[in-house]
Amino acid sequence: MLSVTEVEKIILDLVKPLTDKEFIPLHEANNRILADNISSNFDFPYDDNSAMDGYAVKFQDVFMASEDSPVSLNIVEEIPAGYCPQKTILSGETARIFTGAILPLGADTIVIQENTQSEGCQVDIFTPPLKNDFVRYKGSFYRSGDFLLSSGSKLNPPEMAILATAQCLQVPVVRSPIIAILSTGDELITPDESMVKGKIIDSNQYLLASFIQQNGGIPLSLGIIPDNPVALENAITNALNKADWVISTGGVSVGDYDYVDEVLRKLGGKFHVKGVKMKPGKPLTVATFDQDKLYFGIPGNPVSTMVTCWRFLQTAMEKLSGRKNYRYPSIVKGITRNHLRSQGNRENYVWGNVKVVEGYYQFTLAQGSHNSGNLVNLQNINALAIIPVGTNLIEIGDDVDILLVNH
Ligand code: AMP
Ligand code: MG
Repeated sequence: MLSVTEVEKIILDLVKPLTDKEFIPLHEANNRILADNISSNFDFPYDDNSAMDGYAVKFQDVFMASEDSPVSLNIVEEIPAGYCPQKTILSGETARIFTGAILPLGADTIVIQENTQSEGCQVDIFTPPLKNDFVRYKGSFYRSGDFLLSSGSKLNPPEMAILATAQCLQVPVVRSPIIAILSTGDELITPDESMVKGKIIDSNQYLLASFIQQNGGIPLSLGIIPDNPVALENAITNALNKADWVISTGGVSVGDYDYVDEVLRKLGGKFHVKGVKMKPGKPLTVATFDQDKLYFGIPGNPVSTMVTCWRFLQTAMEKLSGRKNYRYPSIVKGITRNHLRSQGNRENYVWGNVKVVEGYYQFTLAQGSHNSGNLVNLQNINALAIIPVGTNLIEIGDDVDILLVNH
């Protein structure tokens, strides 16, 4: 059976990033992936300007200034931010200037106001500046026409601000992936149905929809499919037609009612993963269909579904979404504050919380039953501790790899 890292690689190699582009208004572009390189017609800064409140001077006039013999200059103009200077500074002159205001012609240096004393139209400079102090030069941050943002960037707060600065009002973004969700199982009912003995609520549909949305996808919830090959075949065909990827839960194990693999095979699916040496989440199926469509058949236990999403699907979805620097799971080194036990035959993921204590991650197991059917104690966790294959016990205080989730 394949290891976790082998499966991770197989999945990522199968993922073909979307390239379809759409234009959306700037205010809707947050969290999306940029589809084109963006440049601006402006230099940044637009003009030489001042980084401080103070006085715009000729360096030649003031470099000899000292506490004992200050240099006295004539204030010929006041330039607040947003105004265009009207005068050229001549020798012996200065302009009062404020942060962000355009540097007047003739001046090359800013003296900060803390090093001056003014009275009327005169200002005394007590401390010599360095040449060009506090001048932000036109184009020193960015030259018009260069690449400002590159395609494949995720639009987070800095990128949104940069797009605004570039007056990019219609943003070219990669279209969001559509991911179909199927819940398989005769035992499943929807949350609005009355409870009947033997049934359980289809929680995976909601788990997956939330996860897909969190990762920039559009979930296409296709409901509950009974454990019946014909119904499954119809549902999977429909899902493959409508979505970029399909995720189903349940029915991929070795039970008599587990029909997913059989149906995938009948529909011409090519199998790449059939089981992973991992707990929970062992009976994972990954198959492909034409046009780069991926099918993930995930075991039905809710915790298995969640762990599979965090371990494999998050990175895969980032790559699908067109993000250039898609991120691998954040696995950090820490110590455990509980004994962590495993049968040792599979890479075991146990859930809990980390906090940073004196610079070190410390992991604590979630309270309650660590059973892959127990969704309840996944709430508010932020980490999975990983017990490697071949290890049966990690003792309190020992090192452990920790996968950070929901960060
Ligand atoms: P299966 O993978 O079909 O063998 O299902 C494994 C376990 O997960 C069984 O206890 C199922 O009842 C449960 N299960 C399957 N699908 C879902 C679902 N959509 N929501 C919640 N639990 C499920
Ligand atoms: Mg089932």
